[in-house]
Amino acid sequence: MKISILPIAKLAFIDKILDEYKNDMGDLPDLIKGKEAEIHNAKAKIMDTETILNDIREFVSTAKLTLVTLKDKEDKLIQQQFLVRNNKEFDALSAEISTLKSEHEKLSVAMRSEGVKEENLLKLLEEQNSTLAVLQQDLSELHAQYDVVAASQNEEVAKYSRIRKIIKDDMDEELYGRYARIRNRLEDAAVYVQRDSCMGCYRAIPKQIIVEMRNQPERIFWCEHCGRLLIPDWVEVDEDDLESLA
Ligand SMILES: [Zn+2]
Repeated sequence: MKISILPIAKLAFIDKILDEYKNDMGDLPDLIKGKEAEIHNAKAKIMDTETILNDIREFVSTAKLTLVTLKDKEDKLIQQQFLVRNNKEFDALSAEISTLKSEHEKLSVAMRSEGVKEENLLKLLEEQNSTLAVLQQDLSELHAQYDVVAASQNEEVAKYSRIRKIIKDDMDEELYGRYARIRNRLEDAAVYVQRDSCMGCYRAIPKQIIVEMRNQPERIFWCEHCGRLLIPDWVEVDEDDLESLA
């Protein structure tokens, strides 16, 4: 007599193992994602700081040239003062010189304050870089942890995935589709019936159904309450049998 639910029982058995492997990863995948986002933000902050620093450096190097030019002009005007023919010309030159001097002074003050800003930004940049280094170290530790868990799982996961595919390819497509759809909602899409109850939602199953399940193994039954596929308790999954498929 064909037991229609048997391939489902096998799938449920294997999926439980595969789900456990996935759970062993715990929150590692989420932690890695979170750390990657933090690193992204830290890098953006560093780029902002570097942009401001570059602006300041550009300003300072332009200002240095301007200061030299102002000084040259001032020197020339001072030379000209020796050649003036009257007081009016002398005073006019004096006025120009004093304008140049005050421009020079203003620019020097601005340069000094930019210098202080640059110093502070360099300190900030150093802090931001060490924050980034810590984050990157954290991330590589998380990756290492992930790799350790993955390495211990890879072989087993591959084996059970292989067995799963064989069972899936071998079973009724519609039945597999139903199982897969339930699994979208409920991880344990197919459950055993124990003491006349569904082991998914723990509600009682009518006596009549229990009897039908026993007498009609070619039929598929599911829980009226939670929709899970029901596996009678007398359906056994032979683990060695499954392993032999791998
Ligand atoms: Zn149920």
